[in-house]
Amino acid sequence: MQYVFLSHDVDWRIQGPPTEHILQRKDRFDLKIFEKTKPEELYRNIPEYMEIEEKYDIRSTFFFRTIYENGNVIDYEDDIKQLQKSNWEIGLHTDRQSINSIEMIKQEKEKLESITKDKINGNRVHFLNYNSELPDKLERLGFLYDSSIRHSKDRIDEKEIGYSKINHLIEFPITIMDAYLFTYMKIKEEGIIPEFKKTLELSRTISENNVITILWHDNVLKMKGGRMYNKILEFLTSQNDVKIMCGRDLVKILKN
Ligand SMILES: [Zn+2]
Repeated sequence: MQYVFLSHDVDWRIQGPPTEHILQRKDRFDLKIFEKTKPEELYRNIPEYMEIEEKYDIRSTFFFRTIYENGNVIDYEDDIKQLQKSNWEIGLHTDRQSINSIEMIKQEKEKLESITKDKINGNRVHFLNYNSELPDKLERLGFLYDSSIRHSKDRIDEKEIGYSKINHLIEFPITIMDAYLFTYMKIKEEGIIPEFKKTLELSRTISENNVITILWHDNVLKMKGGRMYNKILEFLTSQNDVKIMCGRDLVKILKN
């Protein structure tokens, strides 16, 4: 079986970036969508993601920050509750300044848990800040898995596929990320599905039981490229040997 760990990072405060930031990136959007959508809603897509994934009966992981520029994670409380109610997973999107201090990671975890009222099992560091001491800190804080590693920016090879165990913590390298596809790899919209096909083929060649980790940021769903998300799920769910799930459910399978 080819397992897909499907995830979204919620990088921006609920109000989105400052309007100026969005205006500078106007050409990332289809003009019609840009004109009919309120600026703060261009970057905010949690309900839309839920609707798309529900259609395919898929549950993914949403990683939330607890430190937002000029914003607060508590503003996401309603979204978080909705996600939890329907069995999506909430993970911690740790601040890159926190990773050298177990105390700071603990504070972030507890802040998020004060909203979820439930244990947080998964971690991903913002900007994929990672060092070799991080897994031990995460394990000591009770995390079951991390997904903060990417070895390269411009290619998808065997190092970015699968998972590893570091003591009891499971580490999922990010196989496919929206931002790297469009920038470093220069993939055009029509090249996205072929890239997924190629990656899946590579994963199958390596092992008939394997893991592919996908990161599709919350803010890209209405953007060119990012809007291919529905088609990506349509392709993946059409494959008989592919199972798509959140990190929590995948960890359960891998531990058995
Ligand atoms: Zn991030």
